[in-house]
Amino acid sequence: MKYYSTNKEVKEISLEEAVIKGLAADKGLFMPNKINRLPAEFFENIENLTFQEIAFEVAKAFFGEDVPHNDLKEIVYDTLSFDTPVVHVTDNIYSLELFHGPTLAFKDVGGRFMARLLGYFVRKKNDRQVNVLVATSGDTGSAVANGFLGVEGIHVYILYPKGKVSEIQEKQFTTLGRNITALEIDGCFDDCQALVKQAFLDKELNGKLFLTSANSINLARFLPQSFYYFWAYAQLKKIGKAENLVISVPSGNFGNLTAGLFAKEMGLPIKHFIAANNSNDIFYNYLQSSLFEPKASVCTIANAMDVGNPSNFARIMDLYNYNHSEVCRNISGATYNDSQIAAGVKELWNDSRYLLDPHGACGYLALKEQLQPDETGVFLETAHPAKFKETIDNILSSDIEIPLPLQEFMKGEKVSIGMSTEFEELKSYLMR
Ligand SMILES: *Cc1c(COP(=O)(O)O)cnc(C)c1O
Repeated sequence: MKYYSTNKEVKEISLEEAVIKGLAADKGLFMPNKINRLPAEFFENIENLTFQEIAFEVAKAFFGEDVPHNDLKEIVYDTLSFDTPVVHVTDNIYSLELFHGPTLAFKDVGGRFMARLLGYFVRKKNDRQVNVLVATSGDTGSAVANGFLGVEGIHVYILYPKGKVSEIQEKQFTTLGRNITALEIDGCFDDCQALVKQAFLDKELNGKLFLTSANSINLARFLPQSFYYFWAYAQLKKIGKAENLVISVPSGNFGNLTAGLFAKEMGLPIKHFIAANNSNDIFYNYLQSSLFEPKASVCTIANAMDVGNPSNFARIMDLYNYNHSEVCRNISGATYNDSQIAAGVKELWNDSRYLLDPHGACGYLALKEQLQPDETGVFLETAHPAKFKETIDNILSSDIEIPLPLQEFMKGEKVSIGMSTEFEELKSYLMR
């Protein structure tokens, strides 16, 4: 399969090149030049398949022309070696819990898949070291670092905003060592993202080093996220609840939601999606006004969604041919400020004893507000609430338990390299 850039100023390239490059030279994002629909028999039988079996079928539709099926199967099965339950929460609302992987957030799926696929390509080529640059507001860094830890031929640099990630998040990528280096930037997440983008466009740097991204601009990270939409559908079909399915996705850079849109294009019967935002309401405003006006991000208690210029917007535009009403037909919007998020966490805990994290809370609130009586709603619970322990404890006056894997991270010693937001400083460090 060939991949084109959303800016259409460079020629189509192979999967391998698209994964290794990350961002296209014209600053566009790569898109597959066709989206294969899955056969009716697959959907008829889907509730009888395991998560790994479902994901392998979906992965073959995307990557099956380019990766031998045996290798692809190993990558998929190895990526998804943890549980992803669909839990009934209240009324006709279900939670798809995506936080049972090693760093307890949904990005483990994309992070692990990408690490294995890129590792496969690098081994096959067997030449230069590949350097992964990734900007994080917290969860991406931990998922990517843990996904890539120990993968041969790849070094990972995590750029994160100093003082703006939680201690637990920080420990998950600053304590690993080996092929993982944490760069602590004296700025905000948008500065980190801008530095990474600039690095990819710098000729001299790219002449010396092989650079790629592991943000959801990289298609190997965002596409595998479509697997669990199929899985959620299968679980609801099993209990006769798959009609009129509405999926609510807590969104920041919109990689997760875009993967859901791809699943729908592949034939998955989803009625519509809700993009649940925190106070960073750029996409919400786009839906209302048809104007896309990126702005500086504002800090919220759902900090993994503090994004002022969502990168996958370009993919959504491309998918729907820049047609605003087509976008609105598939996606509705929602936006919640911190006190609304806190009230949502409190309400669901008091009424149903279900503990939300601040991101999942946006997804839940949007369903509560928009779901019609004949619809079933699923929100993606994107992180374990303990990853945001301070916030949750503040809201509920609680002292929630930290799961063992997180406690293990807390014991490690933080190692990071401090840096300003000046691109030259990053560049000379990488060129050293
Ligand atoms: C990254 C993240 C999000 C947002 O996902 P996008 O794909 O960037 O829209 C939501 N919740 C959590 C916990 C995250 O880590």
